[in-house]
Amino acid sequence: MVKNLGENSKSVVIIGAGIAGIQAALDLGDMGIQVHLIEKQPCIGGRMAQLDKTFPTLDCSICILAPKLSECYRHDNITLHTLSEIQKIGGSVGNFSVDVLKHARYVKESVCTNCGDCGAICPVRGITNFFDANLVTQAAAQIAFPAAVPAAYRIDPSKCLYLNYEICGLCYQNCGADAIDFTQKDSILSLDKVGAIIVATGLDLAEDIHTLNIYGYQKYDNVITAMELERLICASGPQAGHLSRLTDGKHPKKIAYLQCIDSRSQKGQMYCSSVCCMYTTKEAMIAYEHDNELESYVFYIDMRAGGKGFQKFLQRGAKEYNIKYLKSKISHIDVDKDDNPIITYEDYETSEIKQLTVDLVVLATCIIPSRGINNLANVLGIDLDHYDFVKTNPFLPVETSIEGIYTCGCAREPMDIPRSVAEASGAAARAAEVIKGG
Ligand SMILES: Cc1cc2nc3c(=O)[nH]c(=O)nc-3n(C[C@H](O)[C@H](O)[C@H](O)COP(=O)(O)OP(=O)(O)OC[C@H]3O[C@@H](n4cnc5c(N)ncnc54)[C@H](O)[C@@H]3O)c2cc1C
Ligand code: SF4
Ligand code: SF4
Repeated sequence: MVKNLGENSKSVVIIGAGIAGIQAALDLGDMGIQVHLIEKQPCIGGRMAQLDKTFPTLDCSICILAPKLSECYRHDNITLHTLSEIQKIGGSVGNFSVDVLKHARYVKESVCTNCGDCGAICPVRGITNFFDANLVTQAAAQIAFPAAVPAAYRIDPSKCLYLNYEICGLCYQNCGADAIDFTQKDSILSLDKVGAIIVATGLDLAEDIHTLNIYGYQKYDNVITAMELERLICASGPQAGHLSRLTDGKHPKKIAYLQCIDSRSQKGQMYCSSVCCMYTTKEAMIAYEHDNELESYVFYIDMRAGGKGFQKFLQRGAKEYNIKYLKSKISHIDVDKDDNPIITYEDYETSEIKQLTVDLVVLATCIIPSRGINNLANVLGIDLDHYDFVKTNPFLPVETSIEGIYTCGCAREPMDIPRSVAEASGAAARAAEVIKGG
């Protein structure tokens, strides 16, 4: 690592600490440049932290990510601001000023030992956990997952009895480390001498904003989303990686995967979500590794496997993992008396209308821009494209409409992890040019 450029040198603000923001922060930090990494959630890692394994290598996602999370946390040149959002910016390239709204954690980050005693004693339950795709609930004293970085609990101010009614206080009485701090307040951190800004706010998913009723999502319990399946098959997930139906605990023997849900559709978003064809095959492979009798059916419009080794990956799916690919158009989904989904579809090979009964349906829902991107774009003054992804120059993909503000990863368009990492290094290099006067 290069030595820090010195107290008087300019810093870079990175918004969003998913894999893209983390990679950009590490690149810049290693060049000796001071970085402020701003993350709205209580912990860093973004979507990659939620995944079980990643295509096309089937590497364990958290095993690759965890060393980067801790490196980011400990790095001398990176200051991490969780529970934080950008409130105001001023200035221009080479000399921005940035106001950051830091929400109180009500737990002293450096004192908390992550023992979990506060969460265990907290009487307020039933708060959904975004990290587990809202499949499980947690207490008002909470942590997204045990290996979260920072490894510190937080108290949900909208639900905590003490913060709302000045009653309870059980976590305060039971914290052996004396880490609970109800005197903390939201605060504004004003950063000046910010040379460049990187927007790495990533993605959200169609189910976050749409009902997806036509496919039976939220109507039938055995219709779930791909992100929910990621959590269900993940060893650190709510079923400790033993896939079973949420309705009756039955181990599924037939799973149908429906592609392009809300993507490439006039009723949803007109663009391709880019990663679903690959992650669907990955999920079917992982599920098969859990149970070799499993049959998987992928209902697709056309398979998009435009990456190195991707086509071979799909071929392996068909040959070695009992995956059948059905070029088709879904008409609708019902359920039988045992809650098994029945899919009615047109088989494009034969033009026949057919039905298939399965144990579980998994929807590959559309990747959409991060909620809140419009507000952030207004604050930064940058343009968004027709779909609200960050607009960039097609030949300079990390450049936004404002000089000195760069972007990378799914903030720009749906993309996989390797591309997000490559773009992050590109954005970091452009930001470094500004700081070092390249
Ligand atoms: C179901 C599913 C499975 C997938 N499987 C794979 C796979 O196997 N292999 C693969 O290569 N890719 C896979 N992907 C794609 C992968 O998730 C993305 O490529 C990757 O997460 C993009 O990283 P990112 O940092 O751009 O965005 P994100 O991971 O979304 O991170 C963005 C971060 O920014 C934060 N943020 C957002 N807005 C703000 C704001 N205003 N202020 C502060 N912080 C903010 C968010 O909280 C988040 O932490 C999958 C995607 C899905 C949906
Ligand atoms: S706040 Fe206290 S009780 Fe809660 S996890 Fe941290 S150290 Fe344990
Ligand atoms: S004070 Fe709030 S967070 Fe602590 S135990 Fe009571 S309700 Fe839970």
